[in-house]
Amino acid sequence: MNRTYASETSKLVGKEVTVKGWVNSVRSHGKIVFFDLRDRSGLLQVVIKKARVKPEDIIAVTGTVVKRPANLVNPKIVSGSVELQGSTIEILSPSRELPFPLDGDGLDIDEDLRLKYRYLDLRRPRLANNLTLRSKYVQSLREYLFECDFTEIETPLLTKSTPEGSRDFVVPSRHYPGQFYALPQSPQQYKQLLMTAGFEKYFQTAKCLRDEDPRADRAYEHTQLDLEMSFVTKEDVMSVVEGMITHALGKVGFGDKIISSPFPVITYESALAKYGADKFDLRTPEEKQAGKLAFAWVVDFPFFEKTEDGGFTFTHNPFSAPSPEHEQWLLTKQNVEKIVTQQYDLVCNGREVGGGSIRANSSAVLRSTFEIMGYKDEEINEQFGHMLSAFDFGTPPHGGCAHGFERLLMILQNEEYIREVQAFPMSGKGHTSVMSAPSALDHEQLSELKLEIVSAKKLSGGQEVFAAIVKLLEDKKITGVKVTEHAPVLTSEEAAKVRGTNIDQGAKALVLYGDKKPLMVVVPGSVKVDMKAIKKLANIKDLRMASPDEVTSLTSLPIGAIPPFGSLFGIETYCDIGLSKNERIVFNAGLHDHSIEMSYKDWARLENPLVSAFAQM
Ligand code: ASP
Repeated sequence: MNRTYASETSKLVGKEVTVKGWVNSVRSHGKIVFFDLRDRSGLLQVVIKKARVKPEDIIAVTGTVVKRPANLVNPKIVSGSVELQGSTIEILSPSRELPFPLDGDGLDIDEDLRLKYRYLDLRRPRLANNLTLRSKYVQSLREYLFECDFTEIETPLLTKSTPEGSRDFVVPSRHYPGQFYALPQSPQQYKQLLMTAGFEKYFQTAKCLRDEDPRADRAYEHTQLDLEMSFVTKEDVMSVVEGMITHALGKVGFGDKIISSPFPVITYESALAKYGADKFDLRTPEEKQAGKLAFAWVVDFPFFEKTEDGGFTFTHNPFSAPSPEHEQWLLTKQNVEKIVTQQYDLVCNGREVGGGSIRANSSAVLRSTFEIMGYKDEEINEQFGHMLSAFDFGTPPHGGCAHGFERLLMILQNEEYIREVQAFPMSGKGHTSVMSAPSALDHEQLSELKLEIVSAKKLSGGQEVFAAIVKLLEDKKITGVKVTEHAPVLTSEEAAKVRGTNIDQGAKALVLYGDKKPLMVVVPGSVKVDMKAIKKLANIKDLRMASPDEVTSLTSLPIGAIPPFGSLFGIETYCDIGLSKNERIVFNAGLHDHSIEMSYKDWARLENPLVSAFAQM
């Protein structure tokens, strides 16, 4: 490739090179321009005559590498001993003004804004470093496991719900209406089945999806290094995980931060007695200061805990085996509260960064575990019959672990939020970066899936309705939408006047009650509805206009501001054929002083109204 990296230039003094990258900062204007060019290797100072560059423009510069005078050497950048005397410059892709600055850690910038432009936020050195470190760390974990002869195997994302103590994210099936896939909370069952299959040593970097409210160190989606091994003891698995983490930390330059190796092992009971919790920080204040890493294993957890309704549930993982001396209790359901599980959790500096267990590999033990938790026979067979059946075909004794490396990366990088070590995280409120999901489905998708929205969150007030419409149009990538603000208008005539549009382009949305059910009829601005036609077409006996109070209680809006989107309020929309004669329609979008103009066809596609002749002749 005809391109030199910034980091290579210091060895190329006197040579002509072409560098490509981003304008990092422009320092002086006038006849001679100085700027730093940034590429993935670092920064390079460029000096050039008469160039018009702006921060974050993407450029290619050709020129000669020259040594900087000794007093101008900049040790802070990779190419600090040289600079490029540019002769030609080409702007490959210019940049608009940025929504926020990229120097600094960015932590004081509104997070929603940072996430909306995550691709810009990721240009920030702090985040770029986090992701680069992540890549190297994960590579080193994998390297270690390959060295130990593990096989990397992917397991499905569309699957059946596995109880891991959390709520599932579900995906509707098009071919089997009313039935759903679940996204995995972890690959737990599949990895165990891989042991039945004879792979003996499995791993993958697995996406896990859990619908639990996000917290600083918990997200809907996280990635873990997931592994499973056959013919092992708990000590064997712990030692592989410990070796893997120690190796990878060494590879990324944190090897000397580990305080004690092997990691201390503490029982749950003594952890509670000593630290009051099963996650604890073993560092002294000096060690905290020095950024040390204090790992510890916690073992001997109780298998079950009491539920509010007097039953039992598992504390960690229902697929675990009890400690051998308690197997009989588990099988006979005695001393349930005293049964200890062969679970091990890994903590580091007060956070849980891993966990696993030796598993049950007999159908009797697994069945009894679910029976203790109150599952009926049919439920066990329906939900876990496949595991019981696999165990009955012979399954080696096995165990495994998952390393939640994102939390460890947070610790390494001093980050308070897990989102800072993920490329495209969700906001704390559960919105995806850049593309704003969750978002509504259009009627076509819903009907293909045979889904009906019975109650969505009620919108409240004009601002919320307006925002919901704007978001819907954005989500559906509707183009040619014109939003205008104008003096408040109350009638179709007034509206047409301030907008300067034809009155019959105005989509007048009326709320009616047909046989006690609300419905919306949308007609051209100058037109009156034909109640008889609606009754006939919709087979309604009793039809009347809704009162202003009823309209407000249904839509949260005053009369005159109702947008033609019955779907936003959970009511069906009918449309007069006269409106469809317009190429573009316009309507008050929840507010008397905000109008939206858009193509009729786009509106009809989104709203999917029943179109017929509903206007009085
Ligand atoms: N499935 C467990 C989890 O994701 C880990 C394991 O037991 O291996 O937390």
